[in-house]
Amino acid sequence: MRLSFLGTGSTSAPPLYGCACEICVEARSNPQTRRRPASALIEAGETRLLIDAGLMDLAKCFSAGDFPTILLTHFHPDHVQGLFHLRWGLGRQIPVYCPPDSEGCADLYKNPGLLEFKPVRIFDPFPLGPMTVTPMPLIHSKITLGYCIESGDSRIAYLTDTAWLPRNTEEFLRDWQPSALVIDCSLPPQITPPKNHNDVTLTLAVIAAVQPQRAWLTHIGHELDAWLKANGHALPPRVFVARDGEFIHDPLNILAE
Ligand SMILES: [Zn+2]
Ligand SMILES: [Zn+2]
Ligand SMILES: [Zn+2]
Repeated sequence: MRLSFLGTGSTSAPPLYGCACEICVEARSNPQTRRRPASALIEAGETRLLIDAGLMDLAKCFSAGDFPTILLTHFHPDHVQGLFHLRWGLGRQIPVYCPPDSEGCADLYKNPGLLEFKPVRIFDPFPLGPMTVTPMPLIHSKITLGYCIESGDSRIAYLTDTAWLPRNTEEFLRDWQPSALVIDCSLPPQITPPKNHNDVTLTLAVIAAVQPQRAWLTHIGHELDAWLKANGHALPPRVFVARDGEFIHDPLNILAE
């Protein structure tokens, strides 16, 4: 399997509108340090899965009739806003696997256009091409799912947005032994543990509990980038900070574009 980080940013990703911090100033002049809405493309054989649809230019990224199957973690705007530009297109329907969230986002359910929403059930695996996908609950301000995706010897767990993990998810992941774990790490260490997103402290505690072979931090805000600039060297071995455009081959190695 190959995972490409299309975006690695939170809603406070650099460059944050109006922010004059060092990280945001740099991001305005250096596109390589920008972070777009957190999302990833996972490929195995001919099958492609797009995790989350927060990018506003999805129609430019994927041609009509060749759109990947979508897996939505949840219906917050930074994870679904790109769908609003796609739905009135022409051609084949686009399957969108999603949490059973009766509210969805704005009028997406009422006017789905090309989108074919398919609510999934937690811990109920389903096949997509050569991959098996298992949804699991996370802890966030809206019903949110992480996804475990398996193909051959590769096991990738993608966990955004979350603050720590529900006990059943933690136990599942311990048994499942991901080779690659991609996890929400929105904030630098906080004095009070955050309720809706991991800070560095919570993220590293999850990684220590689950013991993946390797882990990547994503859903990153400008304050975390500033903290990482000063303290990134202190991250444990085999814990990496994801960058937009980076990709990983699992179980083989990590390559940077
Ligand atoms: Zn800033
Ligand atoms: Zn969210
Ligand atoms: Zn988010």
